[in-house]
Amino acid sequence: MGADGRHEIAPRSGVAFTLGRGERLTVIDPCGEQVADLLAFNRHDTDEVLSSGRTLDYASRIYLTTGDPLYSNRSNVLLRIVEDTVGRHDFLLTPCSADTFRIIYGDAHPHRGCFGNLAAALAPYGIAPDRIPVAFNCFMNVPVDGATGAFHVAPPLSRAGDHITFEAEIDLVIGLTACSALQSNNGSFKPIHYRIAPAA
Ligand SMILES: [Zn+2]
Repeated sequence: MGADGRHEIAPRSGVAFTLGRGERLTVIDPCGEQVADLLAFNRHDTDEVLSSGRTLDYASRIYLTTGDPLYSNRSNVLLRIVEDTVGRHDFLLTPCSADTFRIIYGDAHPHRGCFGNLAAALAPYGIAPDRIPVAFNCFMNVPVDGATGAFHVAPPLSRAGDHITFEAEIDLVIGLTACSALQSNNGSFKPIHYRIAPAA
C-alpha cells in the first residue's frame, strides 16, 4: 500500500477484498487507457452477486455513471456510483479468459485473463468460478450501433489519474483486476490502483 492509501494491482492480475457497508472504493487508472473488471458479492451470502441484466433493465441505459446503482441478482443495490471522471464504462461483456484469447485472438497458449485472475482471488472466499457473472468493466469503452446492435471494443477514454468511486450499500466481497486483454486496453498492459475510504 502506498503512502496515500493506494493499493496497486499489477498488470494482468487481480485481487479480492472485503468492503464494508458505507465504505467507498475508488478505482484509479494511473497510466490511462487501462480497464479494471469489478465484481461484488454479498459477503454474508455469496449466492447474491452483481447482475448486469437487472442493473441495465432498471437503468434503461447501457452506459452507467455518477448516481447509478448496481443491483444484485436479487434486485438489492450492492454499490452506487458516487463519482466518475470518465463517464464511459462497460457492463455488457464477460471477463476476458483463456477462452477469449483462444477464440478471439487465436492464442495457442492463452493467459488465464481476468476470469482466471478473479477465480483465483475469490476462491479463498468460497466463490467458485461458475459463480462469476458479467463484471462491471471500469473504463472499458464499447460503442454500440443503436440501429443494428453491433459493437466493438475501442480504446478506453480514461487518461492518467482518472477514477470512479463506488459506495457499498451492504457488506461485500469485491473482485478487481487490471484487465489482461490487448484490445480492451489499447494494446498494452498497465496497472490499476484502488483506495478504500471509511464510511462517512
Ligand atoms: Zn480482462
